[in-house]
Formats: sequence, C-alpha cells, structure tokens
Amino acid sequence: MLHQLRSIVGPAQLLTSDEDLIAYGYDGTWFEHRPLAVVLPHTVEQVAAIHRLASAERVAITPRALGSGLSGGSVPLTGSLVLGVAQLNRIVEIDDANRVAVVQSGVINATLQAAVEARGLFYPPDPSSLRQSAIGGNVSENAGGARCLKYGVTGNYVAALEVVLPDGEILRTGGKMVKNATGYDLRSLFVGAEGTLGTITEVTLRLLSKPKHTLTLTAAFDRIADAARAVSAVMASGVLPVAIELLDRLTMECLETHRPSGLPIERDALLLFSIDGNHEDILRSELEQLATIVRQEGAVVVQVASTPEESNRLWEARRRVSPALAQRRPHKLGEDISVPRSSIVAMIEAIREIAARHELLIPIFGHAGDGNLHPNILCDRRDTGEMHRVKQAACEIFSAAIALGGTLSGEHGIGLLKKQFMTEALGETAINLMRRMKAAIDPLGIMNPGKIFPDPGGVNAFHIGQDVTLL
Ligand SMILES: Cc1cc2nc3c(=O)[nH]c(=O)nc-3n(C[C@H](O)[C@H](O)[C@H](O)COP(=O)(O)OP(=O)(O)OC[C@H]3O[C@@H](n4cnc5c(N)ncnc54)[C@H](O)[C@@H]3O)c2cc1C
Repeated sequence: MLHQLRSIVGPAQLLTSDEDLIAYGYDGTWFEHRPLAVVLPHTVEQVAAIHRLASAERVAITPRALGSGLSGGSVPLTGSLVLGVAQLNRIVEIDDANRVAVVQSGVINATLQAAVEARGLFYPPDPSSLRQSAIGGNVSENAGGARCLKYGVTGNYVAALEVVLPDGEILRTGGKMVKNATGYDLRSLFVGAEGTLGTITEVTLRLLSKPKHTLTLTAAFDRIADAARAVSAVMASGVLPVAIELLDRLTMECLETHRPSGLPIERDALLLFSIDGNHEDILRSELEQLATIVRQEGAVVVQVASTPEESNRLWEARRRVSPALAQRRPHKLGEDISVPRSSIVAMIEAIREIAARHELLIPIFGHAGDGNLHPNILCDRRDTGEMHRVKQAACEIFSAAIALGGTLSGEHGIGLLKKQFMTEALGETAINLMRRMKAAIDPLGIMNPGKIFPDPGGVNAFHIGQDVTLL
C-alpha cells in the first residue's frame, strides 16, 4: 500500500519516519496516537485516488488540516492514514461580482482574510486560531470566533463544497448563487462532520463588504454575575455588537503574566465589546448607549479604546488566552459549552461552584454574547488524584450545561473529548439517525473512525488524562 501511495503522490509527499509520525499524531488537545503513514496530496485527483486505495484495502483515513483542533478530531486512531490537506493551499478565485471566494481546503483562515480585505471585502469567521487553522478544519468543526455574535459561524458562509467521498467519488454541491432550495442541503451535512464523512478539498465561501469603522469598549466588573447580566441587557437593547467577549479575573491574571497588556486584574471580570459599521457618528452614539447600559448593570470602569493600536492590543490579548493559560499549569482541559444567553449567569455560578468543590483552577472566558463559554480546567496530568477531580468536574460542567438547555460544544466539536456525552446531549433518536447517515455515506467505516459517536460503556468509558485509553 505504501508503494501505491508513493506512486499516487510522489515520494516526498508520503511520510513514514518516526519523527513525522509523532508530529502528525497530535492536535491541540493532549491526545496522541501515531498514524500508519502521512500522505500529503496536491490535487483533488490524488485525494480521490488515496480514498479508492484506502477503501480497497479497508484502511482508515483521518483528514487533517493544520491540527489545531481542540477535541481530538485529527488525532489518528488505530491503523489510520493521515491525509493532510495543508498543501491544497490555493485561493482559486475571489469573485467580486458574486461576493464569494473559492479556496482549497488547506488555505489558512488569516491568509484568506487578508486577501479579501485587500479588495474591500470581508470574511467574518475569526477563530482565535485564525493563523494556525485552515478552512477545511474550520468547516469540519463549524468554527466560530469573536465576530460570530453579529456575523454567524463558518457554516453560515459555506456556499459550495467539493468533497471526496469515502469511496473516492467526487461530490460537488452548492454554488455561487444566493438562494438554493434544490433538494437536501448536502453542504450542511459536511459542516461540523469532523472528517467522518469524506475529505473536503474545495470550499466556496460567501463574502461581505468590509465595514469602514470598528470601535472597542471595555467594561470592568467587581462581580462576574453583573457582567453576565450586562450581556443580557445589551442584547435586549437592540444594539448588536460584533463581539462581546468575557475574561474572568483568573484569565486576566494569566494573560498579564504571559505578556502585560494593562488588563484590570483587580476586578472580577472584563467584558470586551466591539461594534462596527460605515457611519462613525452612529457608532459613537451606539457606544454611548452600551456604556450607559453596562454602568447601569454594575460596571465600575468603562473605557473606549481611543486608537486602533489600543484596540488591537486588547483583541490580541483575547486571542492569546489559550497559550497564556497553558503557562499557568502543565496541562489544561479546554471546554466549550454553549448555553442560552438567559442561562449565562447560572452557568458561570455552576462552574465556580464546581471549581471550588473540586479544588481546581477553572478560568472562564469566551464568547459571552453567544452564551459560548470556555471554562478551562488547569491541571497536571501526572497527578492521578487531581486528574480524578478533573474528570468529575468536566462531567459536572457538561451536565450543568445540558440541564440549563445548552449543549456540549459551541465551536470546537466533539472528536474524542466529548463523544461519551453525546447520547446525554442529543438523545438516542438523534444519535441513531446520525449512525444511519454515517453508515449510508461511509459503509466501510473508513472515515475518521472513533470520533463523535459514543463508545459502548457510556460516560464511564471517559478516560480523561490518559493518552490512548480511548482507543
Ligand atoms: C490557540 C487556539 C485557539 C483556538 N480558538 C478557536 C476559536 O476561537 N474558535 C474555534 O472555533 N476554534 C478555535 N480553536 C480550535 C481550532 O483551531 C478549530 O477547531 C479549527 O477549526 C481547526 O482547524 P484545523 O485546520 O487546525 O483543523 P484540524 O485540527 O486539522 O482538524 C479538525 C477536524 O476537521 C477534520 N478535517 C480537517 N480538514 C478536513 C478536510 N479537508 N476534510 C474533512 N475533514 C477535515 C479533522 O479530521 C478533524 O476532525 C482554537 C485552537 C487553538 C489551538
């Protein structure tokens, strides 16, 4: 099989050394497992030939873009080939008239943003990992980001897809048209599918016009519950910010230790607002409205970033939360729960209670305007006692989110990390329907096996803190 793979992609595009296999065995979580081999195709025809060969040989394929995933999706499990799309990295076309960009799935999000912005256009989905993640990974996890409050998530921008199906057939679905009511929406099937249904090779993405002005406001609170209530009050006011991000005190402390940027670490929480539009006078009056609302809800310090540099400094700090938290303890388990906005206060209180009871450090940050919070459990995996408490706390956080009408993931996906909670989150009927859809599209089960679907044994099979016990 290696010989045939080499003849499909050429010798330099097939990696089999120990060093390479180790490097492609990770993502942004702490899971790790070596693939059989890594294959890096340049064309859709090569991807299709790899799929045909893998189907014939009954060998599993784990698609991989840039490996920044936070749920273990691109970690190859038992006997899996890694099919890396990073070299499918061409922006095929930016079509100004139709306001779409056609890109190969290995194009880095930030590269696309820069290319469209140079033409006055705008691609809103902005995961904090925009420099380390590619469009194929973004579509497959339905990635979000700070701007998604106003503009929506990756899936809202997918106009068309080219996907290599498990058996090597090439599906092209959707197009540059604005409206499309022709049959089942097959694009949606692949958004958030985490590589379990096929390999995405090309994506047509909708674009908007770039807003002329963006302003930033910060509001510091002595009680995080007041900050959460301020979010609800702003959302009820009719002003729709681009982003409302929350940083709690522990998150701010970690950021200031990582690289000082003047965050108010003496306060319990900070809200970071961004608003955009084409008329600065209207934006200024909306900013005034926001400032009044947050003060009424208990903000003790309200500041408007007076220069673009100051604004950039604040948003840059927000984007480096993940590495900053990683410095505080040897490991972290990043969560991604999503609850209705009306439940944000209750969710934050539940997380703090769980952290105190299990004596764990759990900084809370995230897209407060969306109700999408990222409690990160800081820990040391070598400490078995602590890892037992981490596991308990993670289970309780998921259960609290579900009990409050929320769900397991707002943007990072399920992968390995949360699959044992899927039945609790979605119910048997939904899981069984998803299993039937998976079996219809991938009857041999070769696409990214072991992801999303719960293993027999339920939540008790959730082995957190050990590398490959999930396999
Ligand atoms: C510091 C940091 C910050 C982050 N911030 C955010 C954030 O703000 N918002 C957010 O949503 N996420 C965030 N993430 C998570 C991660 O960056 C996203 O999930 C991203 O979309 C993954 O893209 P990737 O290119 O790295 O994909 P990978 O990790 O390589 O893959 C992710 C999943 O997609 C599948 N896949 C990849 N390419 C394809 C393809 N071509 N066809 C089919 N399946 C494919 C893989 O099998 C895997 O299941 C962050 C991660 C880090 C490390």
